[in-house]
Amino acid sequence: MGQAPVMNLPSCDVAVVGAGAVGAACAYFAATAGHQVTVIDRGAIASGASSACEGNILVSDKEAGPELDLALYSQQVWRKDLAGESKLWEFEAKGGLMVTTTGRGLTGLRDLIVRQRAVGTIVEEVDAARLRDLEPHLSPAIIAGAYYPQDAQVQPMLVVAHLLRIARNRGARVLTGTEVTGFLRERDRVVGVRTPGGDVAAGAVINAAGTWAGEVARLAGVSVPVLPRRGFVLVTEPLPVIVRHKVYAAEYVGDVASSDQGLQSSPVVEGTPAGTILIGASRERVGFDRAFSRAAAARLARGALALFPVLAGVQVMRSYLGFRPYCPDHLPIIGPDPRAPGLWHATGHEGAGIGLSVGTGALLAQALCGETTALDLAPFAPDRFAEDR
Ligand SMILES: Cc1cc2nc3c(=O)[nH]c(=O)nc-3n(C[C@H](O)[C@H](O)[C@H](O)COP(=O)(O)OP(=O)(O)OC[C@H]3O[C@@H](n4cnc5c(N)ncnc54)[C@H](O)[C@@H]3O)c2cc1C
Repeated sequence: MGQAPVMNLPSCDVAVVGAGAVGAACAYFAATAGHQVTVIDRGAIASGASSACEGNILVSDKEAGPELDLALYSQQVWRKDLAGESKLWEFEAKGGLMVTTTGRGLTGLRDLIVRQRAVGTIVEEVDAARLRDLEPHLSPAIIAGAYYPQDAQVQPMLVVAHLLRIARNRGARVLTGTEVTGFLRERDRVVGVRTPGGDVAAGAVINAAGTWAGEVARLAGVSVPVLPRRGFVLVTEPLPVIVRHKVYAAEYVGDVASSDQGLQSSPVVEGTPAGTILIGASRERVGFDRAFSRAAAARLARGALALFPVLAGVQVMRSYLGFRPYCPDHLPIIGPDPRAPGLWHATGHEGAGIGLSVGTGALLAQALCGETTALDLAPFAPDRFAEDR
């Protein structure tokens, strides 16, 4: 007996697989550039990491190099190109503070500042007295720090919802509850996707499936090494304003850059407009294990108390966890895949996919239009990994 015929869904110029922050940004910029866009997600919008994260837009935690270049470019997109929309997603230009308790930490921080400044990051070294002006409740053990006025915060789910709403107003279609199960091919060329509800023919397909991008790529016969890196966040009861900036220990930068599988949890503390304080975020590579980890939660709480002793006795209301889309070289994968023409990737942003989403979407739209991209995409090439060559 033959299979029931599958109805074809309307074709489009660009199909985006994944309706997280990165997919939403790709859809927004592609639709704004005049492409007919279809976004396809197997769940609801923002059902992946983009609803299980914090909303920091950071330059401070990045070493000089391609990721910082992308973060600085994304700053322009958030603050200039999307300035008119920033209230929609609660954009808060709060600034970040990286702090240290040791002379050795301060030396490392100074070296980092020099490298970051050389590529355009705005950063000011701050002594203990100025630190107390900026954050009156900081622990007296903290001796110095650095202030990064470009660091900001958004509400990630609002980013996804509004980018997709605006994209829809510009003609995009969003198919939720629709899994991409395969690709349409004409010889080696990707010309659309298969879903249980029908095929979607597309001039280009963007793989923005976050932590699952490796599985989606495999459906097209190529590999991208995206792995889950679990993170927990603690959320306190609502409080009067205690923490004014994003505050974190200088060791955090090392944790982000590390490829260690074991648990890492240098503290990151920030307030939200609702009054809750977010305490993040652990990092460990344990696959998609969703079990609560007392060890991770305890380390986060201890770390937060070391920065803000005033939090002792404050109730933690809840915790949540998510899986960052991690790449072994800590760089995202952005651009056309020469191994499967017609397939593009926008994934692997690990712990920075909210902040980097809009820069990624803007760059991909430029490339799709055949324009010279504002940043060179070569460091993010999908086929850069040795095992794929
Ligand atoms: C604890 C924690 C804290 C974080 N804090 C920050 C932060 O402060 N700032 C920051 O910038 N980043 C942060 N991140 C990282 C950020 O969450 C991610 O980088 C970002 O959300 C990735 O977005 P995405 O759109 O690539 O993926 P996702 O949001 O995961 O979206 C991928 C989508 O693809 C869909 N999908 C998968 N497979 C298929 C398929 N076969 N067919 C159809 N759809 C499919 C999924 O359903 C999902 O909706 C944090 C992450 C964690 C876990």
